[in-house]
Amino acid sequence: MTGPVPVAVGQTHPGAVRSRNEDAFLVDRELGLYLVLDGMGGHSGGDVASAMARDIIRTQVAARHESELPQAVIARAFNAASSAIHTQAKNDRGLHGMGTTVVAVLWLREDRVLIAHVGDSRVYLLRGGRLRLLTQDHTVVAELVARGALSPADAAVHPYQSVLSRNLGGKPGAQADINELILEPSDRLLLCSDGLSGFASHEAIEQVMSGVGDPERVAEELIEQALRGGGGDNITAVVLDCGSQIVAESTQELRRTASSEWWARRDLFSQQARQRGVDRSPICAVLSPDEAIEIVAGNLCEAIYRDLEQASALHVWTFAENLANGWLDQGGSYPVLRDLLDALRQSGLAVIEQVAVADPHLAVALETDVLRSLIVAEMAVAGAIGEHMRRAEDMLITQHTEETSAPTFSDEKTTPLMSAGPVEPPSPVVVACLERSRKRCLEELAVNHPDDPELEQCVDAAHRSALSPGNDVDLLTGVRQLFGSRVMSESSVRPLLDALDTARSAHLAALRGQSDPAEVRAAAIRRLAAAHQGLMMAMALMVSESSQALSENFRLASTTTARMRAEVGKNEARLAELERELDRAKGHEP
Ligand code: CA
Repeated sequence: MTGPVPVAVGQTHPGAVRSRNEDAFLVDRELGLYLVLDGMGGHSGGDVASAMARDIIRTQVAARHESELPQAVIARAFNAASSAIHTQAKNDRGLHGMGTTVVAVLWLREDRVLIAHVGDSRVYLLRGGRLRLLTQDHTVVAELVARGALSPADAAVHPYQSVLSRNLGGKPGAQADINELILEPSDRLLLCSDGLSGFASHEAIEQVMSGVGDPERVAEELIEQALRGGGGDNITAVVLDCGSQIVAESTQELRRTASSEWWARRDLFSQQARQRGVDRSPICAVLSPDEAIEIVAGNLCEAIYRDLEQASALHVWTFAENLANGWLDQGGSYPVLRDLLDALRQSGLAVIEQVAVADPHLAVALETDVLRSLIVAEMAVAGAIGEHMRRAEDMLITQHTEETSAPTFSDEKTTPLMSAGPVEPPSPVVVACLERSRKRCLEELAVNHPDDPELEQCVDAAHRSALSPGNDVDLLTGVRQLFGSRVMSESSVRPLLDALDTARSAHLAALRGQSDPAEVRAAAIRRLAAAHQGLMMAMALMVSESSQALSENFRLASTTTARMRAEVGKNEARLAELERELDRAKGHEP
């Protein structure tokens, strides 16, 4: 047994009708063993049987060998308990016919438990705010329904409702159902006897399990619910918190749920990526379709998952940067990268749509995070393009300088990424060259891209920056104007990156077409290249900041909703309590 052992509590109550409690339970964190047992039969047999089974199973599990399969350990323990009870019942007239149900959870490791049961005690799983029954009752009626011999409606009113088809003690051996459950962070399990499941509704159990934080309080409130439902039987509940924090009161919790929901759908993501032709992208040309999906979609899916878990952007950034550098090094173009990211984003949204069917609340949080991840990917691509652009312009300048044997700056770099550019102002001839280039470029754009006013804004922003002494003035202002009141959800930032890219090539082409001396053109190119690169980076910053704010707003809203849910749950419980007090007060009236 490794990993953090879950926080667990157990409680039992005789109920409102019976004087004796024949239920038993075990919470043994050291062994990682949790049991609920519901005894029956004879005058005093019920509690003897449930206590015997509890102690024998505990002893057997404690004596297990490391090499023994957990399934075998549980099966052996159940058999030993059944055999001992059976023998005792035969030998002691007062205990004749005694037996017990059992439901067991055995902690295997961090993300895994074994669930085993005989009879009608149950295990429920709370995951993502939803309660699911994990066990199938071993009752005659349930087995008739399972075989199609009885309708569920008839079963609900059948007189042999609680007659067990299997128990420990009825026969020397035990026929257990044993299953492994893979846990997800913050799963919560409930083991209970039929005194709880038979007297509190599924909805009531779900509400308490999802709305109450402290497991001790959960067990108390579940018992309260069963008592309010009549309390016609002994009531036992064992609550296990498999994660550290259960109620979605913190953004951390929401994030963990979102990340596990995302990860659970990784096959769907790959399938969607395939449908959208990710394997046919020129970037994947050297890979087989399966490799392409595994490497591109699989790695991105995992990167998103890791970033979701850690609230970081590092994994997606690294993924996109490697992808972009690999492609650009081969001389690939931006539109191909853009189309690939687009297909991946569509695949992600398709996955989120599926999450929304199950949990719209969670889907909103997930969508915010996944879209943000994909914007980070686009920003990383923009950064890679900026760097490649710098290198390309650097080579161009070197070439010009060598051709014209112009002095000195062949060995200088253009503006390094994200740092200040050359501090000297441009000379009047360079200014004149830049002015003419701008005019020429705008004329060309007006003809070839008449419907795109953003291009002119891009050219002007770059021009202003190229003219400024430090080459860094006005970049953010220019970008802010470009960015305008755009929001992240509006087809993302792709059109802006497209516009920047188009404006940059047109601008530099216009400059190269000037008839100025080579060293003047080289100086102008250097300033303009730095300006466009700066614009790209300023855009990255801007988008990243704006998506951050939006994302925080979503988180805040989600957290508030979760708190309100919990609050409503508490108030309802309080109301029920007041009603009970009122009933009691009425009972005392003459
Ligand atoms: Ca019972």
